[in-house]
Amino acid sequence: MNVQTSDTDVLIIGSGGAGLRAAIAAREAGADVLVIGKRGAGDAHTVLAAGGINAALGTRDPEDCWEQHFADTFRESYFLAHPRVVQIMAQEAPAAVLELADWGCAFARTEDGRLDQRYFGAHTYRRTCYAGDQTGKEIMRTLGVRIAERGIPVLEHQHVFQLLVEDGACRGAVSLDPRSGDRTAFLAGSVILCTGGHTSVWLRNTSRPDENWGEGMALALAAGCSLMDMELVQFHPTGMVAPENIAGTLVTEAVRGEGGRLYNASGERFMQRYDPERMELSTRDRVALANYTEIAEGRGGPNGGVFLDISHLGRATIEEKLPKMYRQFLSFQGLDISKEPMEVAPTAHYSMGGIAVEPETHATDVPGLFAAGECASGLHGANRLGGNSLVDILVFGRRAGEAAAAHATSSAGRGHAERAIGEALGSLDALTGTRGQSAREAQRELRRIMWERCGVLRDDAGLRSALDEVEALDRAAEIFEVAGGPANVSRALDARTGLITARATIRCAIERRETRGAHNRSDFPSVDEHLERNFFVRRSGDVESGPVPDVPSELTAWASGAPMCPGPERLLE
Ligand SMILES: Cc1cc2nc3c(=O)[nH]c(=O)nc-3n(C[C@H](O)[C@H](O)[C@H](O)COP(=O)(O)OP(=O)(O)OC[C@H]3O[C@@H](n4cnc5c(N)ncnc54)[C@H](O)[C@@H]3O)c2cc1C
Repeated sequence: MNVQTSDTDVLIIGSGGAGLRAAIAAREAGADVLVIGKRGAGDAHTVLAAGGINAALGTRDPEDCWEQHFADTFRESYFLAHPRVVQIMAQEAPAAVLELADWGCAFARTEDGRLDQRYFGAHTYRRTCYAGDQTGKEIMRTLGVRIAERGIPVLEHQHVFQLLVEDGACRGAVSLDPRSGDRTAFLAGSVILCTGGHTSVWLRNTSRPDENWGEGMALALAAGCSLMDMELVQFHPTGMVAPENIAGTLVTEAVRGEGGRLYNASGERFMQRYDPERMELSTRDRVALANYTEIAEGRGGPNGGVFLDISHLGRATIEEKLPKMYRQFLSFQGLDISKEPMEVAPTAHYSMGGIAVEPETHATDVPGLFAAGECASGLHGANRLGGNSLVDILVFGRRAGEAAAAHATSSAGRGHAERAIGEALGSLDALTGTRGQSAREAQRELRRIMWERCGVLRDDAGLRSALDEVEALDRAAEIFEVAGGPANVSRALDARTGLITARATIRCAIERRETRGAHNRSDFPSVDEHLERNFFVRRSGDVESGPVPDVPSELTAWASGAPMCPGPERLLE
């Protein structure tokens, strides 16, 4: 075993959009920065983002304003989002997107050169900027160029398995290289977790299998942070259903944004029964439940999905606006979506809950530790609007980067970590051995349990039996068998992480005895106004709740009332 040490001001764990934006901000604030990530540089989960990024620029609809962006986001969060987090996002989104365009991001433009904007579900106006249907890839490319220009090192293939906490403060992290087995202790003045969500714990999901197990969430919990609203997970209404090995892969919301229509097996445009005003451009939670219900009640297609039809746009428009979708169906199913409908079903897509953070800087409860992007909580509440997470990673990546740089270069930013390093290395040895549970098997079983009993529709009995089974799985997996090399140790770490984040999710789901946004309880089918509260999982495993913070006084008029819904003609124009 080769143990190395490295020292920097700001250590950023995760090389997705949030991590890269944080790194640029920390460096521009004068700090030494190191980014480490599990995958190859430039290939983090953010590259998958397709449809777009929101900012109230008013290109197409000059009446749009940041207050309306706040209102749409906060109301559609079912009043569980942190109002100040939403305010910051909406206010700072225009500058964040324009800055990215200045840095060379090739967003689509109107004929007069302004950034074009399209509709995304439940936004009052067209405010989603896009780069074809590869917006995330283009954002990553742009941030990557900026990172290289500033000489910021990005270390690939570093799987962080423990944070270094000593004297109550975060002093760095310890990682494993899944190729060589080398372990490295990264000492730092401050650490930012930018590790993404935890949707890989569901059987059908839009992630890749070696990320999105809730790595940062589990690391933060072990370090003494709280996790907030872990039960609030967005199931995207439209994932591919075949072939089985790629089932769950996203069919972007841009298909519905461009006029895609949903039909059941009888040819009925069923959204008329679920949301006649907004139809297919209703919020994701409503469309996901509608799709789930049609399938569960036997009105699905041959592969267990409903049908999404965009063929009326014609091939030229589809190839221009949705090129990735056109290729995706052609290559995986041999299906030409300009001629035939796609078969789709809900898929686990986004973690709306996550690490509890302070709104302005995204500092956690542990001094020196910050979190930004999908691993953090506060922006989306019970329902995330499409396009809001790419702006989240820019706005709060920058803020966390600046705050982490200030902390690292202050007197609070240094301390010892020898004891914590010893403990971290010991914990890895204790988790793995030459005999024990198969990590792959544990992951497969966990995904099945979560899909069947903590998925789109939940109830108390199912959740409690899921918790019992996950805990039994955890006991059985006290030691993971890792014969065959360090890549298997990495898989064992993912499996352990998934067990931790799944347990936290189920515990919160049991406590939220209501239906709100993406959290559908068949035994409590309505919103309970007394549960307009956030749930927190503590390190002990206990779940406590607290009231949603007050809306800033200047925004109370925007925050109240039902979401403002323009009629379908307006949306589909
Ligand atoms: C198919 C798809 C389409 C989407 N489309 C859109 C869209 O159109 N608009 C929108 O707003 N949002 C969209 N999203 C959501 C959005 O892409 C994500 O929420 C966002 O990119 C998350 O960025 P992030 O930087 O927080 O995390 P990620 O991009 O997930 O990056 C996390 C990084 O952390 C690394 N990591 C994790 N654990 C460890 C560890 N233990 N040690 C070291 N490294 C670690 C990962 O390997 C990865 O590099 C989409 C998501 C998907 C899956």
